[in-house]
Amino acid sequence: MPAVPWAEYTKLLDGSSHCWYFRGVSRNEAQQLLLSPPNQHGSFLIRDSESSRGEYSLSVRNHAKVSHFRICKGPDGGLYIQKGCPFPNLEELLTYYTVNWKVVQSPLLQPCIPKTPLVRDAWERPRSEFILGRKLGEGYFGEVWEGLWKNMVPVAIKIIKQADMKAEDFTKEIQNLKRLKHERLIQLHAVCSVGEPLYIVTELMRKGNLQSYLSSLEGRALSTLHLISIACQVADGMTYLEEQHIVHRDLAARNILVGDNLTCKIADFGLARLLKDDIYSTSGSTKIPVKWTAPEVANYRTYSLKSDVWSYGILLYEVFTYGQTPYEGMTNQETIQQISMGYRLPRPSTCPPEIYGVMLECWKANAEERPTFLALREKLCSIYRRVHNSLS
Ligand code: AMP
Repeated sequence: MPAVPWAEYTKLLDGSSHCWYFRGVSRNEAQQLLLSPPNQHGSFLIRDSESSRGEYSLSVRNHAKVSHFRICKGPDGGLYIQKGCPFPNLEELLTYYTVNWKVVQSPLLQPCIPKTPLVRDAWERPRSEFILGRKLGEGYFGEVWEGLWKNMVPVAIKIIKQADMKAEDFTKEIQNLKRLKHERLIQLHAVCSVGEPLYIVTELMRKGNLQSYLSSLEGRALSTLHLISIACQVADGMTYLEEQHIVHRDLAARNILVGDNLTCKIADFGLARLLKDDIYSTSGSTKIPVKWTAPEVANYRTYSLKSDVWSYGILLYEVFTYGQTPYEGMTNQETIQQISMGYRLPRPSTCPPEIYGVMLECWKANAEERPTFLALREKLCSIYRRVHNSLS
């Protein structure tokens, strides 16, 4: 019996500084970790018990199977797997079961090797801090869920199947997300990149993506002034990206999210642009959203802020048609052909001629002649002020 009371002793020698102790790892995550290489038969870890606060579980891999054993805490703080066989701390418990391993069905040969986090910084949070609520939608990389962070903060959680993305792509895009901060850009809150699946946690935009919102009952009731306000907000966010020399590459109404009071924010500057299915056409090794894409991108993959400006013109078309798909009835191939012959989308009946003039500026064949986002923002905001004043 040690001189120090059990409870004190346990506190002093808890597992937190040991390589076999995995804080915040759930039973399922432990299972996945132990079954993935380089872990093998005899790999083990100790984690916090999910059902009893302050207690632990031992997870051990036995060939292709993982067994879990509850480590209970007695009234005096002693830790035990078998009643009547307590230990003052996890270390001594492990020493005992390394020798008497038959009880835990598999020898404890080596501590589990953790998956290296892709993002090693303050943005990395344990998955257990998030509770999933309802599914909001699905994109190429996986599902998006509404959730709660630490039981308090409503968030959107993008659950990414790691298999769908190269680790270096993910890391690069997360770097972008982390350093960009603007009221017209979706704010990143956290990332869970230890184990699978990856979570990308952002602020929640209750009304979902702009394309669906515009075609909803609520969206269809928006006035022209509202639509101009949306156009101004997107131009504002894009002006910020322009200042940062960041090319979005996938500007479209589906990648704008809508919150309360018609706040619009740009999303997916990075992630979803890497790949998306139906509206994306494969050409070479990359997939591009042809109907939103400038001709120089469709033909030569030369992305630039000016190709974003072209896409912005298409986004204006979506906004002023309440979410219609551009070039309806035309295939991607026909669209590319028609555009190269000088065809442009016609003015939607609900679109003021002045706004249509802006669209045509964005669709200049020569990228250099297209306006900057700064100029677009100025122009649209002045139209907004004029229409607003004429109504009041
Ligand atoms: P994505 O994979 O980014 O294309 O997202 C799929 C769908 O999930 C979007 O079209 C939105 O409807 C929804 N969604 C994505 N992010 C959020 C968010 N931050 N807030 C609310 N809904 C979102």
